[in-house]
Amino acid sequence: MKNNEVWHALRGVHQGRIWQGVPILREEGGPASVDFTAQRNWLIERFLLRKDIIGFYHTHPTFPAYPSSVDIPTMQAWVFTFGCPLLCLIEGTNGLKGWVFEHDECRGVPLSTVELIESTYIGVDRVVKTAKARRVVSGTVGEVDGFPSPGVGGGSPGLEPR
Ligand SMILES: [Zn+2]
Repeated sequence: MKNNEVWHALRGVHQGRIWQGVPILREEGGPASVDFTAQRNWLIERFLLRKDIIGFYHTHPTFPAYPSSVDIPTMQAWVFTFGCPLLCLIEGTNGLKGWVFEHDECRGVPLSTVELIESTYIGVDRVVKTAKARRVVSGTVGEVDGFPSPGVGGGSPGLEPR
């Protein structure tokens, strides 16, 4: 991973519990922050026209993936602006993680799984674990976090020890 934070918007679809997004746009910041306000107007216009911006991806090159004290209000502001749930993917020192910001006061609900398959990020909402959802994540290449064990949950995967 690069030493500076990298940011992308995610263009794609959100259907039911499945999020599929391809990175578009790109900003690079410093080691602990990235500013994408330059993209703000373009993103809002794009969303109004096509409704295909499903969230954002950024990196934490030197610390674990979890929504930081900057990430949370930033995501909440975008959810407020777009008026719909948005995905927040973070690639940190503990790997790739994802959160859904369901409303403008949500602090991020962790996804069950998130993976990069070819150039598409595929995330699965936690909620109810059905056989159908399992099929979606099985048979994919790479590391799979898997679903949380029964009785476990509520914690943030980003805060688990490596
Ligand atoms: Zn962050």
